[in-house]
Amino acid sequence: MALLKLARHDDPVLAGGVKLVEEVTDDIRKLVDDMIDTMRHGETPGVGLAGPQVGVPLAIVVAEPPPEHEIKEALHDGAIALLNPEIVFSSGRAVIEEGCLSCPGVTVEVDRPSHVIVKGMDLDSNGVRLEVEGALARIFQHEIDHLEGRFFYDHLNAIRRQLVKARIRRT
Ligand SMILES: [Zn+2]
Repeated sequence: MALLKLARHDDPVLAGGVKLVEEVTDDIRKLVDDMIDTMRHGETPGVGLAGPQVGVPLAIVVAEPPPEHEIKEALHDGAIALLNPEIVFSSGRAVIEEGCLSCPGVTVEVDRPSHVIVKGMDLDSNGVRLEVEGALARIFQHEIDHLEGRFFYDHLNAIRRQLVKARIRRT
């Protein structure tokens, strides 16, 4: 396993336009291993990471399942690894503080759905459907946003968004 370099918020790879993973190759498995390693042991450890955040424009997310979640699918080395993830259902609302490994040092309270159903593929090329709420629902929404070029501040109203972007630019 290896630590990967994190893309910062102004890197064009984070502007969206990822490709779907069509086949789970050894390169994809190695990338997922390295993403999990980077999420856990990188310069700024976190609980989720998306492909573009390590400079790879592929639809891959990894997440650290919080202890209260009983996840049995898509597990790899104790983390969740989802290829081609998409949110197919969401409901409820919750305000939760979010940070982003691509925007180090800035955390913001963000209002989003509290409950989501995520579909994707695991590393054995099996279809996976995860129904989650709480912290894990938040992680998936944040990371899947990265596949589409969105950041956590895009969910704020215009005034707060400008303030947060200005703070991020100063870091
Ligand atoms: Zn992020």
